Amino acid sequence: MRFYSTNRPDFTVSAEEALFHSMPQDKGLYMPTPLPRLPIEFFERIAGQSLADIGFEVSKALFGDEISVADLETITHQAFTFDTPVIELESGKVGVLELFHGPSLAFKDVGARYMASLMSYFSRQSEQEIHILVATSGDTGGAVAMGFHNVPGVRVSVLYPSGRVSDLQEKQLTTLGGNIQAFEVDGSFDDCQAIVKQAFIDPELNKNLSLSSANSINIFRLIPQGFYYVRAYGQVRHYGKPIVFSTPSGNFGNLSAGVMVQQMGLPITHFVASTNANHIVPTYLQTGSYIPKPSIATISNAMDVGNPSNFVRLSHLYGDDYDNLVQNISGYFYDDDQTRLGMQAIYNQYGYVACPHTAIGIMGIQDYLSECKQDAVGIALATAHPSKFKPLVEEVLGKPVEVPERLSVLSTRTKSSICIPADYEAFRESLLQTVSY
Ligand SMILES: *Cc1c(COP(=O)(O)O)cnc(C)c1O
Repeated sequence: MRFYSTNRPDFTVSAEEALFHSMPQDKGLYMPTPLPRLPIEFFERIAGQSLADIGFEVSKALFGDEISVADLETITHQAFTFDTPVIELESGKVGVLELFHGPSLAFKDVGARYMASLMSYFSRQSEQEIHILVATSGDTGGAVAMGFHNVPGVRVSVLYPSGRVSDLQEKQLTTLGGNIQAFEVDGSFDDCQAIVKQAFIDPELNKNLSLSSANSINIFRLIPQGFYYVRAYGQVRHYGKPIVFSTPSGNFGNLSAGVMVQQMGLPITHFVASTNANHIVPTYLQTGSYIPKPSIATISNAMDVGNPSNFVRLSHLYGDDYDNLVQNISGYFYDDDQTRLGMQAIYNQYGYVACPHTAIGIMGIQDYLSECKQDAVGIALATAHPSKFKPLVEEVLGKPVEVPERLSVLSTRTKSSICIPADYEAFRESLLQTVSY
C-alpha cells in the first residue's frame, strides 16, 4: 500500500516513509491508497475474534505485500495484548465499545502500540536513533510514552500543557524515565501542537535528529484504530440491525479511522461526531462553514481542540463534498453542565460509570437514535477509563471510583519534567540540550 499527501494526490510514498516522516513536505496529511476492499464474508466470520486476531487479518490485507505474514503476526500480537469488548447497556440497542483495557487506560494505546511495534520492526537494521515528538492534551502522551518505553533505538519527547492534564495523566508522562522525556509547556494544547509542527519543518533540527511523530497526524496511529470498529461489528452484527457509531472527538483521528474502515467494506450505517463545547465540526455539519477557534478548556480535556488536525482527512474521505459528509455523519455537542448531567443519567439508567468523554459519546448516540434512527444498534466509543478522571467522576457521581492497579502504582512515583514557555525557540534549545548530554 502507498500513501499520498492530501495536498498532492498524485505523489505517493512507501509505508516506511509515511511511518517515520508523518507529515509530507507540502504540509498535507498522508492517506493510504488504494484502500483494500475486504469482502463481506470477511466481516461475517469475525464474531468471536479478539482485537489481535482482527488486527492481524486486516493488516495482511493492508501490508501483506510489504511485510511478511509472520512479521505481521508478531507486530499485531505484540501491540494488542488487551481486547476491546462491547458492553451492552441496553441489549441490542445501545452499547459501549470499551477501548481502555490497555496500559494507559485510553484508546490511544491501540494506535500508539501498533505504531511502536511497526517502528521497531522497520528500524531493526538502522543505526540512527529515532526521536519521537508528541504533543498531548492528556491521553496521547501516556499511551505513546508507555507504548515506546524501553523500545530500543527510540527516544520520546512529550509536550503537555501545564496544569491542564489530570494528576494521573501527568504521572504517566513524567515518571517513566529512561528513553521518555516530558516537557511541561506554560500554554495550551494548541501551543504544544504548534511547537511540534514547527519542529518538523525546522531544517536545522531535522539535520541533527531523526524526528518522527506519534501524534494523531501520523497515519499509522489511525489505521489500527479501524480494527476495533471491526471488532465491535463482530460482536453486534447478529442483531441484523443497522449499526451506528458515536465517536467522542477532539482531533478527529478516531472518527476518521472509522470512516476509513467503512470504506474498506465494514457495514457501518452512520457516524455521530460527539464533542464538548469545542464544537467546530458539529457546527460545520449544521452550517457548512468550518471556522477554527482557540480551544476552550472543559472537563473532557482530551477533546479540547479548536482546530482539529484530522478534519482535512475526514473531509477528504468524502471527496471534500459537504453533502456527502452530512449524509454519513451527524454532529452533537455538550457543554460541561450537560456532560455532568449525562454522566449522572448514564449511571442512574444503566449503572455504568463513564468518563466525561465517554459520556459525551453515549449522549450523542442516545440523541441520534431517538431523533433519527430508532431501529439501529448504537455503539458509543468508551475512550478512557473513568478512573483516569477520578476526582471529577467521584464528585459528579458522589461515589468512589476504583483505580486499576496498573495506574495506581504511578501515584507513588516522582514527577520529572522540563518546564518551558510556550515558545518554539525555548523548546528547541532545551531539546537539543537533553539529547546532547
Ligand atoms: C484523544 C481522546 C479523544 C479524542 O480523540 P480524537 O481522535 O483526537 O478525536 C477522546 N477521548 C479521549 C479519552 C481521548 O484521549
